[in-house]
Amino acid sequence: MAREKPRPKSVPGPRRRPQSRAAPDVAGMLRRLAKAIPEPRCELDHRDAWTLLIATILSAQSTDRTVNTVTPELFRRWPTPAALAAAPRDEVEQVVHKTGFFRNKAKAIQGASLAIEQQHGGQVPRDLAALLELPGVARKTANVVLGVAYRIASGIVVDTHVSRVAQRLGLTTASKPEAIEQELCALLPQEQWIDGGHRLLLHGRYVCLAQQPKCPQCPLAELCPARVSNAVG
Ligand code: SF4
Repeated sequence: MAREKPRPKSVPGPRRRPQSRAAPDVAGMLRRLAKAIPEPRCELDHRDAWTLLIATILSAQSTDRTVNTVTPELFRRWPTPAALAAAPRDEVEQVVHKTGFFRNKAKAIQGASLAIEQQHGGQVPRDLAALLELPGVARKTANVVLGVAYRIASGIVVDTHVSRVAQRLGLTTASKPEAIEQELCALLPQEQWIDGGHRLLLHGRYVCLAQQPKCPQCPLAELCPARVSNAVG
């Protein structure tokens, strides 16, 4: 006689409310986020578009806090695109080492600086296509620079935080950043692409955490189909 298989033990986990099928209340979400984060600020220290561009390239796979410990020395030693482009590679690598992937990043920030110096007269270009031509610059970095430095709404910055928050709020079903950006751009009015997008990012960084989202303290909880009823706050 075949032996009965032991029943799997039930694993206690967060209780989730049933998924809402209603369209997301985007305007309500943006209103609540604006109240919670009245002035969304870029947390990468910078003084102009070029220093922001370099800091943003360095922030890939790192944290803004770590980048902010590195950039003062970087910009003290090489304060212009021309100076950084001409710096010895090994010295640049040493300075940015702490941010990880230091060889690729040193190459990218020097390559971007050289292109800015040689092709754009030392000024960071103000359009998406030209920015995307620079070494080490993809859509996320280009959107950060255009939005923060120039207040040009070219798109929405989609990083790991924005991806997660958008998925949990039911704003996207996509998983690739480009597709998420497209869906968010279709949902958010363009005048919200910079600040509204930035608020989503900060919300993900400080409230809607990857492992233990702070749902009990979340200003979006009433509108969120993914809210976890017993998450640790
Ligand atoms: S309710 Fe929870 S899951 Fe939903 S956005 Fe807020 S923190 Fe994230």
